[in-house]
Amino acid sequence: MQNLGLTEEQRLIRDNVRALAREKFAPGAAAADRQYKPPIENLKILVDHGYTGMFMPEEYGGSGLGLMENVLVVEQIARYCANTAMLFSCTDGATPRAILGIGSEDHKAKYLARIVKGELLTAWSMSEPNAGSDVGNVQTKAVREGDELIINGSKLWCTAAQVSDLFLVLVRLDAAPGMRGVGAVLVERDTPGFTIGKHLDLLGLRGTGMAELVFDNCRIPAGNLFLEAGRMRELLGVLDADRISGNPPVCLGIAQSAFENVVAHVKERQQFGKPLADNQGLQWKLAEMAMDIEAARALLYRAAARVDEGHPSIVDTSITKAYVNQMAVRVTNEAMQLAGACGLSEEYPYERYFRDARGMSIGYGTVEIHRSSIAREIISGRYTA
Ligand SMILES: Cc1cc2nc3c(=O)[nH]c(=O)nc-3n(C[C@H](O)[C@H](O)[C@H](O)COP(=O)(O)OP(=O)(O)OC[C@H]3O[C@@H](n4cnc5c(N)ncnc54)[C@H](O)[C@@H]3O)c2cc1C
Repeated sequence: MQNLGLTEEQRLIRDNVRALAREKFAPGAAAADRQYKPPIENLKILVDHGYTGMFMPEEYGGSGLGLMENVLVVEQIARYCANTAMLFSCTDGATPRAILGIGSEDHKAKYLARIVKGELLTAWSMSEPNAGSDVGNVQTKAVREGDELIINGSKLWCTAAQVSDLFLVLVRLDAAPGMRGVGAVLVERDTPGFTIGKHLDLLGLRGTGMAELVFDNCRIPAGNLFLEAGRMRELLGVLDADRISGNPPVCLGIAQSAFENVVAHVKERQQFGKPLADNQGLQWKLAEMAMDIEAARALLYRAAARVDEGHPSIVDTSITKAYVNQMAVRVTNEAMQLAGACGLSEEYPYERYFRDARGMSIGYGTVEIHRSSIAREIISGRYTA
């Protein structure tokens, strides 16, 4: 494999996790999809090999590594099982990053080491029936009563909900309109009044345990208030890193796998007395796919490196996420076409790659919303090439 400006240690991490994912996760990937079954046994393997909490300081049992290492690990897992990669990047992503970044010392002491050890799986919940792209329209309410907060409302599209133990939930805390009235709470799974609602099965990533969350007079200790109203920008700022290390490397891993499989297919399959790969028209398709994947990888690694060098940027995040999302749809779609009817058959992985890649353009900010962020930076003059 190429070096791509990675250090020797980073290459070692990449190659080791790749070998692990190929051996342990690939065999069950199709079944996790077909049976809508989160492969949580794979998370245990990742914990045992020390891949959780890579970004977490050592005092919480983590490895104190950078975003690049996180990206490399998620990409390699996704090459062999996208559902495992999504679960991993979710439970080991937004919530622990938020607690580490802006949580209280109590929250850090109570949760972080347990998350790294895999004792607590986590999810993060923002979306509601009337709050998708428009986060400021969150209606689930948390009202203070003495030493408690009482939560009422419901949430949608929560990845890993079916398997998680700890939820970071966006709630409306006061009457201030829009985002100014929104804050966040930490809710543990067995809290009375909190239930995991209907399982939500999307087109792809069917093994990510997505579900609704329902709060019916759910009482949590006031100490579980995570973020006061009016501080949402801080949370979104912390989660910016997660937008790089979660969603885009999953897309890249899926696209890489679709590409490799279809290259083998067109070299092997004979039509008109010669391999499909002997047709120049198809060779050019392969070249286009390789160009697209390489451009996406370069963007992603550059964005991760900039964060690790202390120069995070909204434009980097949004350009990377939107480009890598769209690349994965293009590449997996083309792989289906090159594989012919096999591309659409459940006996082969191509249709799953496409289904898994498709939703990534919607989750964690749609490509349209990311385009708007990029455009805002351009027009304001903050963006310079
Ligand atoms: C795979 C996956 C995983 C997810 N995981 C989670 C999770 O763990 N937790 C969670 O809280 N949510 C999760 N979501 C939900 C996700 O955050 C929302 O789907 C997303 O924010 C978009 O919201 P929406 O679906 O309500 O679409 P809408 O906001 O209704 O948007 C519909 C369409 O309109 C476009 N649009 C909306 N507003 C504008 C605008 N101002 N300008 C231009 N275009 C616009 C959108 O881009 C989109 O194409 C997940 C979704 C997916 C697909």
